[in-house]
Amino acid sequence: GGDVVTLKDLNGAAAKSFPLCAKNLFNMVKKEHHLRHEGRRQLQLYLKGIGLSLEEAMLFWKTEFCKKIPAEKFEKEYAYAVRHAYGKEGKRVDYTPHTCMKCISANPGPGEHHGCPYKTFGEESLRAALGGLQITGRQVNEIVDKAKGKHYQIACGMTFEAVHGGKSIEQGVQHPNQWFQESRKALG
Ligand code: SF4
Repeated sequence: GGDVVTLKDLNGAAAKSFPLCAKNLFNMVKKEHHLRHEGRRQLQLYLKGIGLSLEEAMLFWKTEFCKKIPAEKFEKEYAYAVRHAYGKEGKRVDYTPHTCMKCISANPGPGEHHGCPYKTFGEESLRAALGGLQITGRQVNEIVDKAKGKHYQIACGMTFEAVHGGKSIEQGVQHPNQWFQESRKALG
């Protein structure tokens, strides 16, 4: 279909159309060349949801992880899980990407980056993440207030509006992949 993301579009797509949860995991794997299990799972399924093929996903994870570990170690310890996310291993279930509720209910420990940043980030980190988007200081304040009030999905919807010139997700933010699709639509 027309809305398939390939590896070469991935950086651009992440910058323009990933919600904070996916953007955070994406940035962390690029920075640390590693992600703990839950974060890998959340990002693997999200990337599948935006249309990245298994072959390209494998290349993405391998390229990042092999900046730190040898290829054999990647093949032995991490490749299975990538295929598994695409239903090519184990019970061969075509697993669906995490919903917002699932991300919000996660409790990432130290060194883990999965979950919903509106909930898991402290105020300072959330301000920094929002500050990296092209939105006003007032919008940042409003979004941070919503997040502090535990209205994570509403805060995320406000971020969507702020970065898409006032266009909103009518049904509200329910799913990181919905955020992505709506963003692509809004950006035309
Ligand atoms: Fe991701 Fe949903 Fe949280 Fe937004 S509200 S950052 S889409 S989990």
